[in-house]
Amino acid sequence: MKDFPVSKRGLVLPRPLNLIGNAFVPAGTGAEFDVLSPLDGQRFAAIADSGPEDVDAAVAAARAAFDGGAWSKLSATERGRLMLRLSALILEHAEDLAQLESADNGKPILQARADMQVTARYFEFYGGAADKVHGEIIPFLPGYNVEVQREPHGVTGHIIPWNYPAQMFGRSVAPALAMGNATVLKPAEDACLTALRIGELSVEAGFPPGALNIVTGRGDVAGKALSEHPDIDFISFTGSPEVGVMIQIAAARNFIGCTLELGGKSPQILFEDADLDAAIPVVINALIQNGGQTCSAGTRVLVHRSLWDRVETRLKAAFEGISASASDEAAVLGPLISARQKRRVEEYIETADAPLIARGGISFEAPEGGFYVAPAVFGPCAPDARIAQEEVFGPVLAMIPFDDEADAIRIANGTDYGLVAAIWTRDGARQQRVAKALRCGQVFINGYGAGGGVELPFGGVRKSGHGREKGFAALLEFSHIKTVVNNHG
Ligand code: NAD
Repeated sequence: MKDFPVSKRGLVLPRPLNLIGNAFVPAGTGAEFDVLSPLDGQRFAAIADSGPEDVDAAVAAARAAFDGGAWSKLSATERGRLMLRLSALILEHAEDLAQLESADNGKPILQARADMQVTARYFEFYGGAADKVHGEIIPFLPGYNVEVQREPHGVTGHIIPWNYPAQMFGRSVAPALAMGNATVLKPAEDACLTALRIGELSVEAGFPPGALNIVTGRGDVAGKALSEHPDIDFISFTGSPEVGVMIQIAAARNFIGCTLELGGKSPQILFEDADLDAAIPVVINALIQNGGQTCSAGTRVLVHRSLWDRVETRLKAAFEGISASASDEAAVLGPLISARQKRRVEEYIETADAPLIARGGISFEAPEGGFYVAPAVFGPCAPDARIAQEEVFGPVLAMIPFDDEADAIRIANGTDYGLVAAIWTRDGARQQRVAKALRCGQVFINGYGAGGGVELPFGGVRKSGHGREKGFAALLEFSHIKTVVNNHG
């Protein structure tokens, strides 16, 4: 690794190269751009600034791998073993990867370490599942045998965001590989260094050329070229609704399928019998985790009026005690990803159409130039207030009062999004009723997991997108059904 650059902090950095057919190559034009660390706003690495020709090369490598290349000749068990090997390598390098993720994305090191465990888990879960997707036999007419087979799409494109770079890599790519697709990943320009390191580890694990290709670059150039590429067979996108629309249009033009995971405005509903001692720490963590830059962050807390004063007092005290700080061992809230994101979140805070309940701080030790934002909680918010409707993607919580169960359901369902929700009540019948009435893809009862475990199907409705990632559901997304009808007489 002696030719790898080393950062000021002693991190071994990936070189500004793409991974195409197991070779590390610069962008065709040789162009690169700087990577800034959100911790101090300083340049600390560079990545390849790829263009359409680099995407063409990556798609061609994937196509060759899928159409007769070594990848296509592996059994499902062999594919799974390679993935398990990659999972083990990620765990072996977990601390280095976590340090790199933290410097690249700004997230607290505790979060980055947890992310690496989850990333490894994706490859473990889907590696184990690779040979467990079986077909069906359909009873049909006498003299016929009908098989329903699950086939990979072919070449799959993966465009992922910057908020959980390594996790999103695993979440999007692992199920596609497990099904035998050959993949091209375009990670986010704001944070993609761990994706490149994991790409290197995939070569070390023994993946054949072209199974996993990575092209870095700008969304409106490399991302656009990948989403519009005529030789991809499926596209998986996580990011903003605005880009999600473009992806869906591009997929439609190519007559291919896509999954879209576009964020949310997820509610946590505290009914009058909620166990507040259990709920309040979870409500805070569901927002503060990753600086609120989580698609499934619990960004609205719906509070029964009888609990309002108690909840407000506790949230006020908690938020006033949180300071954004650099990624030291104890930090719970780091900087946001970029100067642009910081401006966006501060604009939401400054123009919030609800009273401010509390504001946290920024640690005096946080380096100058970093993208730190003090967390904020607002309330009582009208359900249709902008701060209670739009995805802020920062440490901003909207507190909304409600009167009864019907009111809570109406408010919870009253945004354009529908990703995750939580219900806090000890009433079993209410748990069932409300879970059924909520329009979203995941409901937690007396708990919250921002997306939950790797095993749990995850995705949304309406502006949160469509299709399911995680769990077995993702394997089905990355495959299609072929029905083989055999008239054997
Ligand atoms: P984005 O949608 O612009 O970027 C996500 C990914 O899409 C990146 O890899 C990017 O390079 C790529 N991309 C951008 N433009 C593209 C195009 N025209 N064609 C193809 N790919 C393209 O998201 P962002 O600008 O990084 O963040 C903006 C907002 O999006 C955030 O404030 C947040 O509200 C939301 N967001 C949601 C998620 C999520 O997990 N659902 C993640 C990141 C951002």
